[in-house]
Amino acid sequence: MMTCVITETCIGVKGEACMEVCPEFAIFSEPEDLMSFIDPARCTDCGACMEACVVGAIYPQTDLPRASVEFEQINEQWFRRRAGVRERVREIATSLGVLI
Ligand code: SF4
Ligand code: SF4
Repeated sequence: MMTCVITETCIGVKGEACMEVCPEFAIFSEPEDLMSFIDPARCTDCGACMEACVVGAIYPQTDLPRASVEFEQINEQWFRRRAGVRERVREIATSLGVLI
């Protein structure tokens, strides 16, 4: 099944707008995370979160910008091994200048 994916645009902007509209409760984040993540096992690709995100951080999996393709794995992996994903997101945040 196709799902939606949260990309690097969410880093540092993280809120709850997408979570509030998700009918499947598929979007998660913990205080130590710099962004939110969509569980591909729950997402039904309804698109509600894409409309709710004011910074345009969410894309359909099949329409990810080339620079953001890694985020398909990042979203999925957060539900398996959070520590590694947090480390990678921090690296990306630093490279984007979001974290100094
Ligand atoms: S596409 Fe729909 S089901 Fe999937 S995360 Fe977004 S709001 Fe939830
Ligand atoms: S609404 Fe957008 S910026 Fe806010 S947490 Fe969701 S994906 Fe991130």
